Amino acid sequence: MSDEKDATKVVQAGRRPEWTQGIVNPPVWRASTILYDSVAELRARGAADTHHKLFYGRRGTPTQWSLADALTALEPGAEGTLLYPSGVAAVVSALLAVLEPGDELLMPDSAYDPTRSFANGLLKRIGVTTIFYDPLIGADIAGLCTDRTRAILLESPGSLTFEVQDIPAIVAVAKARGITTLLDNTWATPLLLPAIPLGIDYSILACTKYIVGHSDVMLGSVTAAEGQYERLRAMTYQLGQNASPDDAWLGARGLRTMAVRLDQHGRSALRIAQWLKTRPEVARVLHPALPDCPGHDIFVRDFRGASGLFSFVLNGGSEQGRAALIDGLAHFGIGYSWGGFESLAIPVDPQRYRTATPWQAEGPVVRLQIGLEDADDLIADLDAGLARFTAARG
Ligand SMILES: *Cc1c(COP(=O)(O)O)cnc(C)c1O
Repeated sequence: MSDEKDATKVVQAGRRPEWTQGIVNPPVWRASTILYDSVAELRARGAADTHHKLFYGRRGTPTQWSLADALTALEPGAEGTLLYPSGVAAVVSALLAVLEPGDELLMPDSAYDPTRSFANGLLKRIGVTTIFYDPLIGADIAGLCTDRTRAILLESPGSLTFEVQDIPAIVAVAKARGITTLLDNTWATPLLLPAIPLGIDYSILACTKYIVGHSDVMLGSVTAAEGQYERLRAMTYQLGQNASPDDAWLGARGLRTMAVRLDQHGRSALRIAQWLKTRPEVARVLHPALPDCPGHDIFVRDFRGASGLFSFVLNGGSEQGRAALIDGLAHFGIGYSWGGFESLAIPVDPQRYRTATPWQAEGPVVRLQIGLEDADDLIADLDAGLARFTAARG
């Protein structure tokens, strides 16, 4: 399953006959206890490699293996994938797999806020020091590496502000020094940015977003490059991490349509971003496919396309004006997360989180998740919202 195109892989991968028993969608295999025929068999199976063998519910069943297998197939050069009960659980498990007391971790200043919180919380408590870096640092990250640097986390584009990172340049620095790289690839998914072929050691997804795609399941995954799987598996087992078969089943169901969904999210989002760019109420549109976005040239070089999440900066105005814009939207829900079929709008305040690079903007920022509604309806809705923003300005 390595030569097919991705749209074929998302349909076919993970559907091994021994797991599906001929059913199109691998069924939900629920289990805690697995029964053995004899004491001898119980002992033998415990001593053997339990990978893809029923052993105990926490090690998974064919339902979880099927989704994990499919995600591995989307990252050429990957050794294996493990599933987690949320994206955050995936991020923290991967970091714990590679970090030890006394180590230093480099983390982009644009990292997802709960990832930052983990660095400033548990990682700090166990003696890991996190140094936050400018997401646009590129090869200059070498200047931040010390003898103690064990891992570099990347997230591209960055949460809220969408800076695109120079992954190959950072990977080259890391490889030369034996430093492990981890990428939060939730925005692009392996369809728009296969991370392992770029030299990343661990590709992390909040499957809650585009893999599931329907705003009704929490799920995460980490896909490990060749040679990096074993320590991730060992740490994941120690932590007792396990995604339920029902949630994995919904994840696999979502994955089958992900290529067409992403394509539509991407096309509508780009159209809306370009429309916003023409508006006088908008100072900047932070969409990686537009030149306003920091790292745009790297996006053009490395990515196969854009997904459906971006931000825009209002031209002046106030908190109240931004609330008036968002509160009256008819087709956008107000809520966290993204990657589902429905559009969402939220206020975001990047300056609250930054420590390495100050965030300065012309006005308040709005983040949009563009869903699968008709883009004309969404544009009309935003048009009315910008009129409310202007009216609130007086
Ligand atoms: C949502 C998100 C996560 C966390 O995923 P959950 O499933 O909500 O825990 C991690 N990284 C990024 C970039 C995200 O947007």
